[in-house]
Amino acid sequence: MYQVPLPPEYTDLSAEEIRSRIHAAKAKLGSGTVILGHHYQRDEIIEHADHRGDSYKLAKDANLHPEAHTIVFCGVHFMAESADILTPDHVKVILPNLAAGCSMADMANIFQVRKCWQELQRVLGDAMSVVPVTYINSAANLKGFVGENGGTVCTSTNAPTAVAWALTQGEKVLFFPDQHLGRNTGAKLGYDPETEMVVWDPFKPLGGNSEEAIRSAKFILWKGHCSVHKRFTLEQIAKAREEHPGINILVHPECELEVVNAADFNGSTEYIIKTVEAAEPGSKWAVGTEINLVNRLAKEMPDRLIFCLDPQICPCSTMYRVHPSFLLWTLENLVNGVVVNQIVVPDKVKHYAKIALDRMLTVCA
Ligand code: SF4
Repeated sequence: MYQVPLPPEYTDLSAEEIRSRIHAAKAKLGSGTVILGHHYQRDEIIEHADHRGDSYKLAKDANLHPEAHTIVFCGVHFMAESADILTPDHVKVILPNLAAGCSMADMANIFQVRKCWQELQRVLGDAMSVVPVTYINSAANLKGFVGENGGTVCTSTNAPTAVAWALTQGEKVLFFPDQHLGRNTGAKLGYDPETEMVVWDPFKPLGGNSEEAIRSAKFILWKGHCSVHKRFTLEQIAKAREEHPGINILVHPECELEVVNAADFNGSTEYIIKTVEAAEPGSKWAVGTEINLVNRLAKEMPDRLIFCLDPQICPCSTMYRVHPSFLLWTLENLVNGVVVNQIVVPDKVKHYAKIALDRMLTVCA
């Protein structure tokens, strides 16, 4: 989405001016405006957040404030959409920088997914029994597609439960947009990535597969990935183990299968945080996830050795677009009664996306 350039008066402010003006605007807005900060946001944003969490936790946290009429979501576009779907109609959801998308979510769009569905129907015929499952890191209209077609949303925490449920509803799962979470989840459930999974490349006829391969696959995995989590490698794990004997390797399931298999632990962002928090003082952790979160954990728990598995890793570049100056601009506009950057999910999409999200809550309760 197009983000209008910030007015010049917001582009030359010092970090301290921005911080104090955010505090002042927040105080004027009071409890009707709630700021949510995703774990991957920079510290200068997190310090202003009323809640911090992963995307699903934050969408739920948005509902913890019955008095709130405005949610400022410091995260990326699909997260603000989920908050709009899950909050009452009168609540406005704002994304401080509209350019903050998610490169993984952008790897599957509704036109590509509909085309894939049609091609699967052509190959599998009237008896087609495919259940679509979308990772919560996807556009609202993909959640709507899933809701309309008997499928569910999943998070990185509940993916095994959601996918296991899907396989009780149909013979195959179409999992998008992250092939790695899909593959890791299928492997965790006991399916063979080599013989029971195919990858669907939306830029190739039949996703780059033969009809026979599609017929025999249990999992059809969309060819998408997270540009941050794909950076972690076996070499980095070997180096961490060599340099820090006894170290624990902890990675996110958006990493490649071989990395997840070589790690000691894997799980969602919330799982990563809880695991490190519960660890003994003096323990050592090489963590394969976004750098802002890893650095924050290291700062908050100095009695443990915590570092990012990839020493060169850059932050999630799209999350990073939520600079504090955008937050300030958003809040000061609200103080003046102006709503900028509101994210509105159309009613029809919202209806089916809510069905998919509610299904996830029921199935994964
Ligand atoms: S870390 Fe990966 S999945 Fe998360 S917002 Fe960034 S690109 Fe998307």
